[in-house]
Amino acid sequence: MTEVFIPQADPGAGYRAQQPAIDAAVARALASGWYILGEEGAAFEREFAAWLGLPHAVGCANGTDALALILRGLGIGEGDCVATVSHTAVATVAAIEMAGAMPLLLDIDPERYTMDAEELTAVLADPPPGLPPIRAAIVVHLYGQAAELGPMLAACKRAKIPLIEDCAQAHGAGLDGRRLGTLGTAAAFSLYPTKNLGALGDGGILATADAALAERIGALRQYGWRERYISSLIGVNSRLDEVQAAILRARLPMLDAGNARRREIAARYDAALAGTGFAPPWRAPGAEHVFHQYVLRSPDRAAVQARLKALGIGTGIHYPVPVHLQSAYRGRVPLGPAGCAETARAAEEVFSLPMYPELTEAQVSRICAALGELG
Ligand SMILES: *Cc1c(COP(=O)(O)O)cnc(C)c1O
Repeated sequence: MTEVFIPQADPGAGYRAQQPAIDAAVARALASGWYILGEEGAAFEREFAAWLGLPHAVGCANGTDALALILRGLGIGEGDCVATVSHTAVATVAAIEMAGAMPLLLDIDPERYTMDAEELTAVLADPPPGLPPIRAAIVVHLYGQAAELGPMLAACKRAKIPLIEDCAQAHGAGLDGRRLGTLGTAAAFSLYPTKNLGALGDGGILATADAALAERIGALRQYGWRERYISSLIGVNSRLDEVQAAILRARLPMLDAGNARRREIAARYDAALAGTGFAPPWRAPGAEHVFHQYVLRSPDRAAVQARLKALGIGTGIHYPVPVHLQSAYRGRVPLGPAGCAETARAAEEVFSLPMYPELTEAQVSRICAALGELG
């Protein structure tokens, strides 16, 4: 019997599961006659901010822009350095250069896959010579789990620089009872279709408790306008359209349930891995994981992926080449004094299992059976 292939991600299943609500939202936005920065976008910003627990949210075109707009809004750009990681979606690093600043790439904690807090503390206390001053840190909550924010917030506070949260994979995740995105100076969320909260096109949103920063970014995202046709700031064009905003409004109320289903699937995978040579993803103390990805590692990754593929199960690699080893960045972007050995090792070993709320019980059971056979 040939069984249907289970893809690693399936945004079409996400649409079909919510089709009536999404179709109604799209029809409403289309019928309104207003397609860019209107009532749907403003309502989504209010509803997202309330869900997150912050006073201000600003929609924009994608998650990369959300990060770049935060940096520009904070006045960070040319002549500044921004610390982040190399084990991330390249977007994090691209956003720093879009703002005109220089990325400084630090290594990761190999269990958590997020920025090494000790290295950040060390470079802020004793900045590497020959680099522009470090004016911000962008911390990525990779795979849906919180980075070790406590010591990083303390180090940024001592250095008097903002900590920016890249929450593109962490919508709804928490740390010590607080939602991620509410702990730093500002947070950026991607709304790309496969994210935990996804549009059916591109989208992004950023959030902050700082009213003046939100106001500035609200102007920056539309040509620097505070008043129509009059640029008071040097801006860009990065807007969230009304159709996507309406879709996101329909989906936001289902996000927490989707995250709970991801955790349920993760627990099933954990149980299936007992007795195999694979360690389930490490859960950081106090962290509420939302499993944007369920990530395993193996020194023999290609063989494991091939065996799962033969059993009809798709896997992915997030990410196969660290940013500092990609040809656009290699030899050009500085690394922290510790180098990026853990980053390089992770890139060679990690792979991601199928993970989305729409996986059926039958699919989850098939995946668990296949994991049990890995031995
Ligand atoms: C997806 C992602 C982004 C970029 O979001 P886009 O909407 O694709 O621009 C940034 N950072 C991380 C960690 C991501 O996963």
